[in-house]
Amino acid sequence: MLTIDSDVAVLGAGIVGVSTALHLQARGRSVVLVDRRGPGEETSYGNAGLIERSSVVPYAFPRSVLTLLRFALNRSADVRYHWTHLPRVAPWLFQYWRHSSPRHLADAARDMLPLIERCVSEHQLLLKDAEATHLARETGWLELCRTPKDLAFSREAAERLGEYGLSYDLLDRSQLHDLEPAINPSVFGAIHWRDPVTVSSPGAVTKAYAELFLRRGGRFVHADARQVKQSDGHWKLPSEAGEVRARDVVLALGAWSTDVTEQLGYRIPLAVKRGYHMHFSPPAGVSLNRPILSEYGGFVLSPMLDGIRLTTGIELAPRDSAPTPVQLDKAEAIARSLIPLGNRVEPEAWMGVRPCLPDMKPVIGGAGKHPGLWFNFGHAHHGFTLGPVTGRLLAEQMTGETPAADLLPYRACRF
Ligand SMILES: Cc1cc2nc3c(=O)[nH]c(=O)nc-3n(C[C@H](O)[C@H](O)[C@H](O)COP(=O)(O)OP(=O)(O)OC[C@H]3O[C@@H](n4cnc5c(N)ncnc54)[C@H](O)[C@@H]3O)c2cc1C
Repeated sequence: MLTIDSDVAVLGAGIVGVSTALHLQARGRSVVLVDRRGPGEETSYGNAGLIERSSVVPYAFPRSVLTLLRFALNRSADVRYHWTHLPRVAPWLFQYWRHSSPRHLADAARDMLPLIERCVSEHQLLLKDAEATHLARETGWLELCRTPKDLAFSREAAERLGEYGLSYDLLDRSQLHDLEPAINPSVFGAIHWRDPVTVSSPGAVTKAYAELFLRRGGRFVHADARQVKQSDGHWKLPSEAGEVRARDVVLALGAWSTDVTEQLGYRIPLAVKRGYHMHFSPPAGVSLNRPILSEYGGFVLSPMLDGIRLTTGIELAPRDSAPTPVQLDKAEAIARSLIPLGNRVEPEAWMGVRPCLPDMKPVIGGAGKHPGLWFNFGHAHHGFTLGPVTGRLLAEQMTGETPAADLLPYRACRF
């Protein structure tokens, strides 16, 4: 069997793995990128495409009794669960709830800030080098408010973020109409978050970054990461093209990372929040200029190359169980009252899995028990946002540079 020798094998070619591979390569390492599919074809393909500079507070477990009661009924469009999955996920949910207390949440926001602050600039560097700037829009996104009460509530929430210096505008009905004429004039107003950048195809962006990696001399191979083994001071993995052999290996397998970490003896409490999308082809003359969020419907509508993409909120269900896109139907009904959506483009909904840790922070850094084993996964709701910056930070740590942000809050041994 042929041997493919390299300094580092990066397992997983989603936005996190591809970005990590690029940053290692930029520091002189020879890198092989490994995936069982093509680059950017799982969760990094189907998300809402927000590089979410305004999400300075992580997505927490709700603590209001009214919200919890609403979720308990299991009928809302934003969060849904499989009843049979609850006993299994309950200990994880308890940890998530605990980490969502005001004090812990403030700690998590402080830890994540150096990453969020760099998310747009890190993407911009890669977009430029990958000649993919045409896929990005500097238009921000809109949080729709159906009623004056909704707008007042969202305004207070935005004002509480004052210390972070985020740029936003409060829009009344006519200002909203000027920005997005297709939105139903019954919508009362919106908050326009101006710092985030959004893209018209997160899958195409991830593929463009992977092509940049190849152009710069990187190698991509298909293999099953679960077969990775360490022997004689090297990591080895059989692939279609021969045996991959590397001194270092990075696990960037998103929601599948624990398939490998468990085999290697690590207990990392990764759970998944599933989500769906569907594209719609709006009638002639109807378009969106930027993504819109309906908090009430728990969905985002994003203008994409394939049509208007409706992405749903959270489904708590086993990672590998069959899709149950009930939320998509509910969200679609609400979305149709906001904008003429036209027909569904695909026959089936797409499903993706957000890799989530209970303290709302990814795992980044050395594994601990195995020399040459590194982790970069668990980016939850913001993996597309954070892939490039966390790729840089890990590459800096692996090559002996001082990372641009402290990686201590992300160490694997915190669990
Ligand atoms: C509906 C929805 C909307 C979202 N919207 C946004 C958004 O607007 N902005 C944002 O920042 N984030 C968003 N996210 C989250 C974001 O998409 C994820 O956090 C991110 O894609 C995770 O990237 P990743 O590279 O870690 O994982 P993935 O993109 O899932 O990549 C993991 C890779 O590992 C590979 N793999 C798995 N198992 C194996 C194996 N055994 N062998 C080889 N390869 C393997 C897979 O094929 C895949 O390519 C959203 C998620 C969902 C579901």
